[in-house]
Amino acid sequence: MKTTSLTERTIFVLDYGSVALTDWMGDDQKPAKIARTSFANKDERTLEEDVKLASYLLNARHSTPFEFVQLEFYVVAPLFVTAQWHRHRTARINQISGRYKEMEDRFYVPDINRCHRQSKSNKQGSSIDLIDNPEQARKAIEVANQVAFNLYKELLKTGIAKELARIVLPVNTYTEFYWGNSLHNTLHFLSLRMDSHAQYEIRVYANAMHKLLTAQFPNLMKIWDGLQLK
Ligand SMILES: Cc1cc2nc3c(=O)[nH]c(=O)nc-3n(C[C@H](O)[C@H](O)[C@H](O)COP(=O)(O)OP(=O)(O)OC[C@H]3O[C@@H](n4cnc5c(N)ncnc54)[C@H](O)[C@@H]3O)c2cc1C
Repeated sequence: MKTTSLTERTIFVLDYGSVALTDWMGDDQKPAKIARTSFANKDERTLEEDVKLASYLLNARHSTPFEFVQLEFYVVAPLFVTAQWHRHRTARINQISGRYKEMEDRFYVPDINRCHRQSKSNKQGSSIDLIDNPEQARKAIEVANQVAFNLYKELLKTGIAKELARIVLPVNTYTEFYWGNSLHNTLHFLSLRMDSHAQYEIRVYANAMHKLLTAQFPNLMKIWDGLQLK
C-alpha cells in the first residue's frame, strides 16, 4: 500500500473539519485486472482496455472487483456527523477515545448562511430560507459550547474519570477517526451521502471524498459519475 502524509491529500471542510485520503491500494486498472481472473487471463492490458472493462463491470453491477481497491481516510468531524457516518457498517473504524484523551474545545458552529429554517416538506431537513437572526442563533450555540466545555473542565478538576466528564459535551464536539473501506462500499456511501437528502454537514465530507477519489482514480470515478446521471 502507498502511504502519504496527512496534509498532502487533505480537504478542509466546515470550520475545523477535514478529510484526508491517507492510504490506498489499487488504481484505475485494478478492477479489470481482478475481473480477468474469470477467464484466467493474466496478460497486461492497456489503460484503455481496462477502463472499458471497468465500465462494463460497473454498468452490470459486477461489484466484487471494485472491492479490491482499498481506501483509508482520516476524518475530523463533529460527533453528530460521525453518528451518521458510522451507520455504514462495511467500514473499518478506529476513533480517538475520550476515555484516554482529554477532549479539545473544538465545536462546530454553522455559518450564517447555513442557519436555515426547518423544512415544511422534508421533516428531516432544512428549507432554503434562512432564519431571521442567524447571528443570534450562532451566538447561542457558542455560549452553549463554552458552558459545556467549562463544565467539562470543572468535572475533570474533581478527579472524575475522563469517560464520565465527557458526557456533558454536545454533539457538535469534533472527533477524529480512521475510516477504511473498499472502493465499492465507499461509492455506496457517496451515493447516499452526496445526495441532496443527506444533511449538509455530512454532504460536504462526501463531496470532498469524491474530489480525493477523482484525483486518485480519474477513470473509475468518471465512469461512476456517468452512472449517477442515468
Ligand atoms: C438521507 C438519509 C436519511 C437517513 N435517516 C435515518 C433515520 O432517520 N434514522 C436512522 O436510523 N437511519 C437513517 N439513515 C441511515 C440509513 O438507514 C442507513 O443505515 C445508512 O444510510 C447506511 O446505509 P446502508 O445500510 O445501505 O450502508 P452500509 O451499512 O454501508 O451497508 C452497505 C450495504 O451492505 C449490506 N449490509 C450491510 N450490513 C448488513 C447487514 N447486517 N445485514 C444485511 N445487509 C447488510 C446492505 O445491502 C447495505 O445496503 C439515513 C440515511 C440517509 C442517507
